[in-house]
This record gives sequence, C-alpha cells and structure tokens, in this order.
Amino acid sequence: MASSSVCNPSLPIHHHHNPSAANTTASVFAGTGGGSMVTAKKKVAVIGAGAAGLVAARELEREGHRVVVFERGEKAGGTWVYDPSTETDPLGIDPCRKVVHSSLYRSLRTNLPREIMGFLDFPFSIKEGRDLRRFPGYQEVELYLDDFAAESDVLKAIRFRTEVFHVGMMEGGKWVVKSRRDFGEDVAVDVNEIYDGVVVCSGHYAEPRIAEVPGVERWPGEQIHSHNYRIPEPFQDKVVIVIGSSESAADISREISKVAKEVHVSSRSALDRFGKKFYGHENMWLHSMIQGTHEDGTVVFQDGTSVIANVILHCTGYKYHFPFLETNGAVTVDDNRVGPLYKHVFPPSLGPWLSFVGLPWKTIPFPMMELQCKWVAGALSERIALPSEEEMMKDVEAFYSRIAAMGYPKHYTHNISGCQFEYFDWLATECGYPKGEEWRKEMYFANTRNKTENPDTYREEWEDHDLISQAHEEFSRLKQQHSVKNM
Ligand SMILES: Cc1cc2nc3c(=O)[nH]c(=O)nc-3n(C[C@H](O)[C@H](O)[C@H](O)COP(=O)(O)OP(=O)(O)OC[C@H]3O[C@@H](n4cnc5c(N)ncnc54)[C@H](O)[C@@H]3O)c2cc1C
Repeated sequence: MASSSVCNPSLPIHHHHNPSAANTTASVFAGTGGGSMVTAKKKVAVIGAGAAGLVAARELEREGHRVVVFERGEKAGGTWVYDPSTETDPLGIDPCRKVVHSSLYRSLRTNLPREIMGFLDFPFSIKEGRDLRRFPGYQEVELYLDDFAAESDVLKAIRFRTEVFHVGMMEGGKWVVKSRRDFGEDVAVDVNEIYDGVVVCSGHYAEPRIAEVPGVERWPGEQIHSHNYRIPEPFQDKVVIVIGSSESAADISREISKVAKEVHVSSRSALDRFGKKFYGHENMWLHSMIQGTHEDGTVVFQDGTSVIANVILHCTGYKYHFPFLETNGAVTVDDNRVGPLYKHVFPPSLGPWLSFVGLPWKTIPFPMMELQCKWVAGALSERIALPSEEEMMKDVEAFYSRIAAMGYPKHYTHNISGCQFEYFDWLATECGYPKGEEWRKEMYFANTRNKTENPDTYREEWEDHDLISQAHEEFSRLKQQHSVKNM
C-alpha cells in the first residue's frame, strides 16, 4: 500500500483571468502572477515562517495583500532550523512537554536532489564557499531559505518570537488572531487583531505519532520518537528496535547501526525479506510488526523471531495538529485527515478566507507550496475564482469516496505520491501558469528508483546526468530573465 497513494480528481477548470497562459516555459514563474490585475487587497495573517510561510508571504505581497507572518521561533526556516535540544518527553506525547519544533538529526542531508527541491523561480543552486553537494546537509537548506527570504524581501513582514494561540471566526467572515509575543525574562505581550484571511503554514512534523506496541507498559526498555533523535552516540552497544520504513527510519537505522550492537527494523512492508539482514549491514535485520513485548526485555515480532532489546525508536510519522484553530467544526482532523478541504487547501465553507499550505506528503514540498500559495493569493484578491461551496464539497466527497473504495485508510488522504505532478499541473493551470517541465518529473522518479535500489549510496552516485544538464539550462534561462528584469 505504501507505494501507492490516493489521487484527487481534476475538476473542470473554473473561470479566472489567465495572466500568462500563452507562455510555455517555467520562466514565467518569475513573474508577478498578474499583480496588475489585483482587484481587492486583503489583510492576511500567515501562521509560521517555515518554507511555506515564506513563500506565502512572497506570493501574497506580489498580489498586493497586506501580510503579517507570525513565527514563534527566533528565525525563519521552520523544520530546517536545527535544534540540538530535545523535548522533555522523548516520545513526544505528553501534552505538557516542552515542544521543540524541528525534527532534524545532526547528520541529515536532503533526500531530494537540489535541482528539484527548490522553489520554481528561485533554484536551489550551488554557491561558492557553501555545501556544494547535490544532496546537501540541512544547514545549506536553511541558508537557501535565508537567501529566499532576503531576495523576496519578506523578513519585514515577520513577527518573530510571536506565537499564535487562537484563530477564530468572527461575524461577517473576518478572523480574530490572538498572538503572544515573548520578550524573554517572563515578559510576554498578547495582541488581538482582525484579519480578512488566514493562511495556516504551521508545518506538520512536530506532533509525533507513535506505534501501538502490545505490552509496552511493562517492557523495561527506553522509548523515543524520531522527532527527538539527534545523534547516534546514546545508542552505543545497545540493541535497538526501529519501527517504520520511512525515509527517517532508513537514515536513522543505518546511522545507529554504526555504533549499536544490533538494529532490528520492524516494518509493515517488504514482506519477503523478514528475518533477513540488510544488504551490506552485518548487525541490521528486517522484521515484521511487533507482536508483543515482555517484562524481561524481549520483543517478539509477528514473523516469530524475537530479541531482547534496550530501545524502541518510533519512526512512525506525525499528526496534523492545529491547537490554535477554532472553526466551530468546519475543519477537523480525523485519523490524520484534515477536512473537508478542497484540493488539500480550502475548507469549502470558509475558502478562500482560511487556507492550509503544505499539507500533502510524499511529494516535493517547496514547489508544491509555491503553487498552492499562488492559488491562495489569487483567490483572496478574487482574481482567481473558486467553485461554489457546493461544488467544492461535492469534489471533496467524491475524493473521499474514492479513497474508501480503494481501501485506503483516512490517514492516506494527503499522501499524493501517485499523483503529485497532476496536482502541481492542476494548481499551475488554475493560476494561469504552464504545466511543469518534464525533467523535474523524470528526475524525481530517477531519484526515487535510485534511493530504493541503493539506499546507502544514492546521495553520492546517480545516473541522471542529462536531466541535471536540462535543469541547469532552465536555471540559466531564469537567471537571464531576472537580470533583464532588474536592468
Ligand atoms: C526529518 C525531515 C526531513 C525532511 N527532508 C526533506 C528534504 O530532504 N527535502 C524536502 O524538500 N523536504 C524535506 N522535509 C519536509 C519539510 O518539512 C519541508 O521541506 C518544509 O520544511 C515544510 O515547511 P513548512 O513551512 O510547511 O513547515 P515548517 O518548516 O515546520 O515551519 C512551520 C513554522 O511554523 C511555526 N509555527 C507553528 N505553530 C505556530 C504558532 N502557533 N504560532 C507561530 N508560529 C508557529 C514553527 O515555529 C515553524 O517555524 C523533511 C522533513 C523532516 C521532518
């Protein structure tokens, strides 16, 4: 099941102005998205200054809206701002724990090649004196986002150290946003404001989801979620169970195996390889799900094998979590489905005044968020028309029925791996932009294949050299276009 995903059907395109439909290259993304046609400027609150919040601010400002970005951290970048500290509850489930936003581990390098990872009109190019690798470390992504924020001139719109603790609806369709600015030394100031629109960009990798492990209350070992994993040293000489088969599970289990006594990966997928060693790793085994745990430290897998282990590390993903949002039931989170949402962005009854950016997963996040933000910005100025509430609701219901008919659980709602490029193209068309270039799709699939076949080496060795050349040609066209514009 993990290899597939639920897909959202394409609705007919609705009437809207089409600022650059005749253009067929991605270079048009550098444009202002038809800012000259703005019909109504709005006051818009953006919650979060990660990649989503930054690109939201840029697109909203390009459209002429007045933007305030709320960010509880001290700098922009969200996930990409590494924090060596971890939460007081290593499993991340205690609601009173000290929350650490970033889930990065110290060795993290991107799992996407930089050519496709960056925003469409701001390539993630190599810069002299910086991390030149095709799959750079997290610091390089943070620097890239700093460059993006500076170039887009959005920093002035951000209120740092300011947490939004309430977003609620008011009579007349406006929104009240309550925030708390932290001045340090126990000084905080609360502010209540009214906005026309709210764009939620608060991320979804901070609220851990953990696996249910039978008997774990009596099991004497330690448990931790990957959200609180930073470095392998604490696992020296231990027997570690890693639950999950995500990208993080793959990276972390390999890293830990260098210091641990044994690593046992418990996974729902890869049925034919249960009980076998990982290729090239002498102390790493793959198992089925955990059947039970016992007081003497034993962990029994469904495949019949068992080990005495010291640690269970949950690499089991995250929950969508919007503790600040009060919509009187118009949007809920049910088994990790945020809904109802039209095309993962607008609640039919509240769009375009409330929107969510960045929810879909198993995708290329930055360009997706950029396209979503163009749509949101255009819809807020009424340059791009949304379908009626009834039509949007019908589309959502049809989408949910299809998920159910395919036998997918609700928590697959925002997994767009099987249709992400259709989704990107749908968004681009809706905003009046051309569809994405072929090399991006091909490079994504080439990388996915390489990662699956060569999980230990895909960041160092690849074969898609022709696609890299095509990417660089595209980037130089973009650069030329920028310099002509700025002359
Ligand atoms: C371990 C890991 C590895 C990843 N690797 C890659 C990769 O290689 N390539 C890739 O493209 N993507 C990767 N991703 C996905 C990554 O999350 C996205 O690239 C992107 O950073 C998401 O941006 P965002 O703005 O949606 O959320 P975030 O980056 O999480 O930003 C959300 C921001 O909102 C702020 N915030 C939240 N709530 C509030 C509030 N109430 N008030 C004020 N501020 C608030 C937070 O402080 C944060 O700054 C990875 C993710 C993880 C967890």
